[in-house]
Amino acid sequence: MNYLASSSLIDLVCSVCGRSYNADTLQSYCKECNAPLLARYDIAKVRKLVEPQVIRTRQRGIWRWSELLPVRDIKNRITLGEGDTPLIETVHLHKELGLKYLFIKDESRNPTGTFKARGLVMAVARGRELGVRSFVIPTAGNAGGALAAYAARANCEAHIYMPEDAPIVNKQEVTITGANLYLVNGLITDAARFAKAEADKHSYFDVSTFKEPYRLEGKKTMGFEIAEAFNWNLPEVIIYPTGGGTGLVGIWKAFQELEELGWVSSARPRMVSVQSTGCAPIVRAFNNGDSQVSFWENAQTIASGLRVPAVFADRLILKILKDSHGTAIAVSDEEIIAAQKEIATLEGIFTAPEGAATYAALHHLVRDGWIKANERIVLLNTGSGLKYLS
Ligand SMILES: *Cc1c(COP(=O)(O)O)cnc(C)c1O
Ligand SMILES: [Zn+2]
Repeated sequence: MNYLASSSLIDLVCSVCGRSYNADTLQSYCKECNAPLLARYDIAKVRKLVEPQVIRTRQRGIWRWSELLPVRDIKNRITLGEGDTPLIETVHLHKELGLKYLFIKDESRNPTGTFKARGLVMAVARGRELGVRSFVIPTAGNAGGALAAYAARANCEAHIYMPEDAPIVNKQEVTITGANLYLVNGLITDAARFAKAEADKHSYFDVSTFKEPYRLEGKKTMGFEIAEAFNWNLPEVIIYPTGGGTGLVGIWKAFQELEELGWVSSARPRMVSVQSTGCAPIVRAFNNGDSQVSFWENAQTIASGLRVPAVFADRLILKILKDSHGTAIAVSDEEIIAAQKEIATLEGIFTAPEGAATYAALHHLVRDGWIKANERIVLLNTGSGLKYLS
């Protein structure tokens, strides 16, 4: 990195009780509330230090947002070139639906082929800064690959717990780095039990979704990039394929920080959470008007990143959907496969099934009149279709 920018991190705040936690020691989550911690920054200071034009001209990548990221020492800002993925305006796809402005934020260009890189680079960098040398993670697949890569880069140990029926590419990308892969007969929630036991026994640091505060901070950079790409005039709708919800919460947090900075107005996109009909705990809770999610039995879908039956950040996600006047929608595997084919045929992008799910959901939202023809819509393609080949 060729610029000096200091993190303006102040502390960590419980997303439920608001209690403040010291950000310069290792933290996990609020044990009182069983809820995630959110990093808080000295935004007034950042406002004096930088402006959008300065950030725009820095070297590409997530670290150009360093004032609003948690890593304090420049030498701990490891990178494999994550972030600054293209926002691709469609040339054909929008016409199929009678829309004017459709964009795909193509996260498949990240290291390890998914947006999980953004979260894990941050968790590893900040964890290492605070003294961690061994990480453990339960994963549906892609988070394991990303942790393995960044642990290798940071010269740390990684222990990865993954369902035995996860995509084969996920297993290979882990083992090639020399990380320890443990295959579990079950789902990510079963993997989480093993990971936690291992973490407790050996004092490994657990980087499960929302069980530590910094993966969220990495994912947040998607929100910064989207805002910048739209010249600080946020789009009307963002459609996000939701597993644990880190990206959704991260994008929303980015917009809040940008508003505090005075770089965007209070106008917000309507946030849409897409899940699979085979595992849709958030959609079910949203439709029931619940503020929390209940466990989804027998979760099954080809979109492995969405096969997350228990959602730790459920209260945050449901609140964002409500506050943004957004919605939640489930699509079937058949619709996902058809959408994947349609995007590849019409735009040349081989999306992950999770990314394709956003386009399948868009079909529903347009048909139901929930989206107007002249609105600007962003689909998150969270990963590459290449990661699901067998
Ligand atoms: C993990 C994953 C998701 C879901 O992301 P969350 O942050 O858990 O909501 C979506 N798509 C892909 C490709 C993933 O790997
Ligand atoms: Zn709390």
